[in-house]
Amino acid sequence: MEDCIFCKIVRGEIPCYKVYEDDEVLAFLDISQTTKGHTLVIPKEHFQNMLYCPKDLLAKVMGVAQHIAQAQVASLGANGVNVLINTNEVAGQTVMHFHVHVIPRYSGEDCLRLEFLSNKIDHLSLPAIADEIIKKL
Ligand code: 5GP
Ligand code: ZN
Repeated sequence: MEDCIFCKIVRGEIPCYKVYEDDEVLAFLDISQTTKGHTLVIPKEHFQNMLYCPKDLLAKVMGVAQHIAQAQVASLGANGVNVLINTNEVAGQTVMHFHVHVIPRYSGEDCLRLEFLSNKIDHLSLPAIADEIIKKL
């Protein structure tokens, strides 16, 4: 993918602060540093988002994400971690190359807010919603 920012990072055309690399997976610091140590984990091959990433490679990416999260807790003194995958624009995806955010969290001193607001979905409709999903599995 010629114009993809993350493909350019993989090819070394854009610099990054690399924290992990193997044949298939790369992890580097997010330029925005939502919290100290905020890291992105990506497959080196271009897939638009998580929905298109082959399962074996997805498992490798998530394995690296776990490894990074463990290192963030051990080295940076993080008290917890959010692992976040934005998929498509509606979910906040701005770079269309699959990536996993690994965001260390610090008690009382970081500025990331993730909030699940209440919705209007009636609990009585939950069996039908579950059935809709099951039909496509
Ligand atoms: P998204 O919103 O697509 O889930 O996240 C994309 C992330 O990529 C953002 O957090 C943004 O800060 C990060 N990002 C965008 N461009 C660059 C870049 O050139 N270098 C690095 N290291 N991160 C980038
Ligand atoms: Zn790409």
